Amino acid sequence: MSENKIINLMTNGSEKSLIIAEELKHKFEALGYTANYDIDENAVLNICVGGDGTFLRAVHKTGFSSTPYVGINTGTLGFFQEISVLEIDKFIKNFVAGDYDMEKLDLLEGRVYSREHKEYFHNALNEFVIRSEDTSIIHLDVFIDDNHLQTFAGDALLVSTPSGSTAYNYSAGGAVLYRSLKGYQLTPLAPINSKAYRSLLNPLVLPSDSVLTLKRRPEDKAGTLVINDGLNVLCDNFDSIKIKTSDKWINKLQFNNNWYWLNIKDKFI
Ligand code: NAD
Repeated sequence: MSENKIINLMTNGSEKSLIIAEELKHKFEALGYTANYDIDENAVLNICVGGDGTFLRAVHKTGFSSTPYVGINTGTLGFFQEISVLEIDKFIKNFVAGDYDMEKLDLLEGRVYSREHKEYFHNALNEFVIRSEDTSIIHLDVFIDDNHLQTFAGDALLVSTPSGSTAYNYSAGGAVLYRSLKGYQLTPLAPINSKAYRSLLNPLVLPSDSVLTLKRRPEDKAGTLVINDGLNVLCDNFDSIKIKTSDKWINKLQFNNNWYWLNIKDKFI
């Protein structure tokens, strides 16, 4: 354990989460830690109290920090939220004793290019979804490492990390990729297959060193939504997005090595 004993607490603001966060604050402070709701970049731990959305927001709010994250589940589903409210004392004891593993979760890097050649940079822990601002069909030229693969027509294209594969990707018929697998997945949402369009109907798993480019066809008039881990970014003059596995990752504490499969069975089967 390093000398620094600062803990960042983040919640979804619900009454239950605020009560649990206060309980954590008091218990950690009794052990000589400083726990507060301001983000300190020198903290030893980021605690996220809520559901998976809280974990995602906390990761974005802390700028995909190298400080490890842990999730305390006060929501319903908890793919990032390993610790239940009944396990708080055990979690604190194990954390203080250093009795845990560190899971590395890969991120996606997305570079959005506008028609004015401006570039906007984003990271995603779960996924990027590229769709029309309205309900119109989106047409995207899909390139893998500069090879043109298809002109997609449909509702949207979703690009997910292995950790995000159990989220929106799973609902869209994508495969579950174990979190430590290297690579990412391209999944179509309602692809059109007709005489006019030939879109891939199934998801494609790409190696982590591949660069995926999705370029909007010029005949599309509606604005483009880039949805980043559930956060909508409207891009009026969207030209393309280049996506690859990021050089950055986040660290998540893992206390039960069987938790992933227990969770998959509990939530999906
Ligand atoms: P939220 O907490 O309401 O999350 C929405 C749902 O997605 C919850 O049931 C949550 O448990 C689940 N989820 C999030 N990340 C997950 C993961 N890695 N594995 C399994 N389930 C996961 O909060 P939010 O901020 O709205 O969450 C954003 C996420 O919601 C997006 O990243 C996207 O993956 C997901 N989403 C799913 C659908 C769908 O399944 N049809 C549609 C839109 C968004």
